[in-house]
Amino acid sequence: MKNIYFDYASTTPVDPAVITAMEPYFYDKFGNGSSSHVFGREAGKALEGSREILAGFIGAKPEEVIFTSGATEANNYAIIGTARSLKDKGNHIIVSAIEHPSILAPVEYLAKEEGFQVTFIGVDEYGVVDLQAIKEAITDQTILISVMYASNEIGTVQPVAEIGKIAKQSSVYFHVDAVQAIGHVPVNVDEIGADLFSLSAHKFYGPKGIGALYLRKGVEITSLLMGGDQERGHRASTQNVAGAVGLARAIEICRNNMEEEMCVQSQWRDKLFEGISQRIEGVVINGHRMQRLPNNAHFSFERVQGEALLMSLDMEGFAASMGSACHSGAMEPSHVLRAIGLSDELAFGALRITVGRWTTEQQIDALLDKLTRIISGLRM
Ligand code: PMP
Repeated sequence: MKNIYFDYASTTPVDPAVITAMEPYFYDKFGNGSSSHVFGREAGKALEGSREILAGFIGAKPEEVIFTSGATEANNYAIIGTARSLKDKGNHIIVSAIEHPSILAPVEYLAKEEGFQVTFIGVDEYGVVDLQAIKEAITDQTILISVMYASNEIGTVQPVAEIGKIAKQSSVYFHVDAVQAIGHVPVNVDEIGADLFSLSAHKFYGPKGIGALYLRKGVEITSLLMGGDQERGHRASTQNVAGAVGLARAIEICRNNMEEEMCVQSQWRDKLFEGISQRIEGVVINGHRMQRLPNNAHFSFERVQGEALLMSLDMEGFAASMGSACHSGAMEPSHVLRAIGLSDELAFGALRITVGRWTTEQQIDALLDKLTRIISGLRM
């Protein structure tokens, strides 16, 4: 039997049209984007064209976008780069308690090694950040607020535009980790008031190893990679031209299909919610029912070990996740599930099912059948 993929939030297959667009940049158009000869000019042109496409899609100007190796790097840049650049202005950073580790680790590092204060903002039972707590946490030392667009685990979409307004009123920079949202729901940096914005191509049918950081005009960050003037001096290293071309092509495909994909995927998601709630007792749906990503369904099962459930699904050819690849194998329950107040039993009984461009109704039906049987087997 062919394995069936239900882990699109972890990574996506590359769209064949993206590979086609990238291919020439490994062969005859292989040049270094910084070289002045014809090979370099060709590569440089492709790089800038890709930057324009991405910038246009998020409502930015091309010169406000820097390409990175992915979102981990973009997030590290946003947090550490802003903190170091603004350290004379203030030493306080606000983040939500449910950020990805690529935000949490840098703020913890800054607190431990560079004298910064960090406030972690809690969320309600649906995973929505507490806006009042953000307002109350701001002091004259606050330099940055960082809140993700949508949760990679439970799929809740945050009220980012509201947070953007709060940040603006206090003249504090606002960073948004938009990894799970971009390509899946409409995003626009001006509408949400983001000053910095991170993304990664492999989450929207582009290649791994390429992402970007949007830096609103005037936002100054110190560089983490030094030794070259690429990306306007922000990030040294020869640019990943083929990757940038792939990222841009992936964006175009998402833009053209977004409305339809949102509609189809949210139908699959809702079918999972209904099917699982009807067939299996002792299950809760995690995340917000309305303000959530179209492709994310997240559950907790009573009296089930999530790891055992994933293993059984895997043996039957279904690839899913507990919520975050970064936590699989860890003995600690996910910090996100803790933050929404789940008991350890429910946090350890988590299952994230994420659908995507190549999910079919037959796959959903097959999963529903198999899951029902596996859960009753595990409970026995
Ligand atoms: N932020 C979020 C919300 C993510 O889901 C991920 C990927 N799991 C990242 C950041 C890191 O992205 P990358 O794999 O491109 O480094």
